[in-house]
Amino acid sequence: MSSKEIDLHGALKQYFGFSKFKGLQEAVIKSIVAGNHTFVIMPTGGGKSLCYQLPALIKDGTAIIVSPLIALMKNQVDAIRGVSNNEGVAHVLNSSLNKTEVKRVKEDIVSGVTKLLYVAPESLTKEEYVDFLRSVPISFMAVDEAHCISEWGHDFRPEYRNLRHIIKRIGDHIPIIGLTATATPKVQEDILKSLDIADAKTFKASFNRPNLYYEIRPKTKQVDADIIRFIKQHPGKSGIVYCLSRKRVEELAQVLQVNGINAVPYHAGLDPKTRVKHQDMFLMEDADVVVATIAFGMGIDKPDVRFVIHHDMPKSIESYYQETGRAGRDGGEGHCLAYYAYKDIEKLEKFMSGKPVAEQEIGQALLQEVVAFAESSISRRKFILHYFGEEFDNATGEGGEMDDNVRHPKKRHEAQEDVIT
Ligand code: ADP
Ligand code: MG
Repeated sequence: MSSKEIDLHGALKQYFGFSKFKGLQEAVIKSIVAGNHTFVIMPTGGGKSLCYQLPALIKDGTAIIVSPLIALMKNQVDAIRGVSNNEGVAHVLNSSLNKTEVKRVKEDIVSGVTKLLYVAPESLTKEEYVDFLRSVPISFMAVDEAHCISEWGHDFRPEYRNLRHIIKRIGDHIPIIGLTATATPKVQEDILKSLDIADAKTFKASFNRPNLYYEIRPKTKQVDADIIRFIKQHPGKSGIVYCLSRKRVEELAQVLQVNGINAVPYHAGLDPKTRVKHQDMFLMEDADVVVATIAFGMGIDKPDVRFVIHHDMPKSIESYYQETGRAGRDGGEGHCLAYYAYKDIEKLEKFMSGKPVAEQEIGQALLQEVVAFAESSISRRKFILHYFGEEFDNATGEGGEMDDNVRHPKKRHEAQEDVIT
């Protein structure tokens, strides 16, 4: 190593206590340290935060981190403060701060103590903040959850659309880092365009989860009995059952309980105390199964979830991937079982009917992919990875045999046409 080269492993150990980089982290960090626009696509849990945190800590100036969720920003700030033993090293700038607190943040930035400044995109619309940030050295700007820029993403946020404009006002030559776990080519294109970083160095990790088994069964009237049978075949194992509606969550949780399965319901309509209680019961293994709407899962990191059941199909392949992705985090078995009926797709369509036309069209297109996925006879894994712009060869790829269509090919006459070319 030349004397000029920065000791990245040393910094990794010193600040985070890790001895190895995960996946593409080191390459990404080198790109950011070199001052490139950089685009990072990694699945959830891939370790994206460290990709900008480490360069922020070792570079001159303050890095601005744009993130959509205040709760997540607070967690990250606390974690960074912990590792560097310094309150001022990371700050959040948002509307909840009073004058004194804002003054403190500004002083820490001016004196060079602050290496990471987390902001919500709406805070960046404040003239006062933009003027201030123009006047201080900025190392780079990281846009986390960058798919929020795209209407094709699952979490579009209009404030994200203005980011490029605001970054230009803060400084002309600030390196921009986009990070996301959404890998569809359309969303990626949108991000590069909207941030105006067509020349960004792009790093994309594989989205393959070789230890997950994917299976889709036709949904019949016997679906509840089928689910009960499946769960009883996995006694004592942790699992999540996703339902579309709160009502269905309540009903199914009860049916499972009556049948001797240790299940708890979870949805946004329950009072916060019950929600926390049920979540904890699941995490502490006082309950084997949580029956939930999609309100359950964000930030839940239970490594040994052995199955994820979709009682109803989700509204996009991204959602399906995220939700099934909660199984087998520890690398052990993870069975992903979904029940499909076209009727349910029509229900999802109906939900969108009040929305603006453009949004409906996008929603329809995403749903059609779900239909194609469910009705297809080609490998589920191949389909998912293709959707995320990744070619997969079942003969040589990891997990190539881990889905129903590969293990039990449909007979010719019942097979649907292949939808991937
Ligand atoms: P993402 O944002 O991609 O979903 P996170 O940044 O939240 O992922 O990181 C996921 C987990 O991986 C965190 O618990 C983090 O501490 C851990 N992690 C990140 N980098 C490393 C590493 N090099 N070695 C070990 N653990 C790591
Ligand atoms: Mg993240």
